[in-house]
Amino acid sequence: MKRIGSHKRACVYCGSDKQLTVDHVVPLSRAREFGVKRSVLDNQSNRVAACAACNAEKGALSPHEWFALHPEYRERFQREAKYLSNAVRRIAGLK
Ligand SMILES: [Zn+2]
Repeated sequence: MKRIGSHKRACVYCGSDKQLTVDHVVPLSRAREFGVKRSVLDNQSNRVAACAACNAEKGALSPHEWFALHPEYRERFQREAKYLSNAVRRIAGLK
């Protein structure tokens, strides 16, 4: 796969390069539940590239719910999604 600069053109969950979309790691609709303002989640620090299949299946699942369903995706996600904000990392349970 050809890479330009540091852009990752693959799904941060499964690694597919097909039909990439923008996924919110922590769904905007669940901001209140996690005790943060929507604006904390509605920016680049909460957005990742995800293939259409992962995005559709993930829906409004929290990171914990999603990785409980797909533990095999966690390692890639942790490796690729280095730029997440501290708030997003805390909610996602990342170190
Ligand atoms: Zn995917």
